[in-house]
Amino acid sequence: MSPRSFAVSPDGAAGSARLERLRAQLAEHGVEAFVTAYGANRRYLSGFTGSAGMAVVLPAAAVLLVDGRYTEQARQQAPGWDVRQVDSFYEALAQLLEEAGVRRCGFEEQRVSYHGWRQLQEKAGAVEWVPLANTVEKLRAVKEPEELAAMRRAVALADRAFTYVLDQLQPGVSEREVALKLEVFMRREGAEAVSFPPIVASGPNAALPHVRPTRRALRPGDGVILGFGCVGDGYCSDLTRTVFLGPAGERGREIYDLVLRAQEAGLDALRPGVAGRDADGAARRVIQEAGYGDRFGHGLGHGVGLEVHEDIPRLSQRSETVLAAGMVTSVEPGIYVPGWGGVRIEDLAVVTEDGCEVLSAAPKELMELPV
Ligand code: ZN
Repeated sequence: MSPRSFAVSPDGAAGSARLERLRAQLAEHGVEAFVTAYGANRRYLSGFTGSAGMAVVLPAAAVLLVDGRYTEQARQQAPGWDVRQVDSFYEALAQLLEEAGVRRCGFEEQRVSYHGWRQLQEKAGAVEWVPLANTVEKLRAVKEPEELAAMRRAVALADRAFTYVLDQLQPGVSEREVALKLEVFMRREGAEAVSFPPIVASGPNAALPHVRPTRRALRPGDGVILGFGCVGDGYCSDLTRTVFLGPAGERGREIYDLVLRAQEAGLDALRPGVAGRDADGAARRVIQEAGYGDRFGHGLGHGVGLEVHEDIPRLSQRSETVLAAGMVTSVEPGIYVPGWGGVRIEDLAVVTEDGCEVLSAAPKELMELPV
């Protein structure tokens, strides 16, 4: 795949809509320029997908500083950006800001290392460095139609992977083999990558929400949590289902039903204006009222997009994020019982004007596979 086939990108021009929205935020903070070296933010603004480089947004220009590995790629992927090949990012940045007469420049306080901070001060000490948080992330949270289209494709492939993997779940097959099969299927069917290493947690291992797959062989009676997703055109999917090998048993059916009802309550709560903690609460209440509150030890959901875990929105007990139309979030309650196992059910949903649309289509009814 050539870099040019990158299908979801800003329009490239220095005056693009994304840059204009960013500049409006910068004006609120009284800064004239902004720099990011964070991959997902750099890509979102410029379209450049390389692993290193600085995107510098100036009042009347947008400049990509790259090393020699990426000069040609950046020119192809970021038309409208002034691509400059440099030896030292910080020295080039300092020179650029001086040329543009920038006195106050925003940087990403969560993304700059101590080393980077010292470099900014040493190489560009004349500039007033203004710490900013979530500047690009706020823009990324609300998906544009082309971004949503890419996410729908990644979600649809994860849905198909679920159908495929059901046939692979048999007693004697190890968690790692199942994880490998999931990964190979998604990549063979066109995914660029997996969005994270698949989670396959069987029997008692399913009590650990994000455990890595082990050599444990599946056994009749196991509940198996399958969490996976893929990347297409840069955008991630994230899907979790729990299935049983053979009868789920009374406890399995009870817990599965609870988690499913909690998930539906969480999805029902999504709409513009709702706080992340209230969406979390809607799902958590179902689990708490059944006496399993202390077995649901993580938040209800997270944003997804260019990254599989995005901080905006976050659905959790403390989250003050206010949902807006166009945000994509996971909704993934779980109940985990040490020594027994666990159940988690996760879909991605996009917030609409009056509710939400669930993107995933993989079935959610209790599955007791023949063994
Ligand atoms: Zn997730």
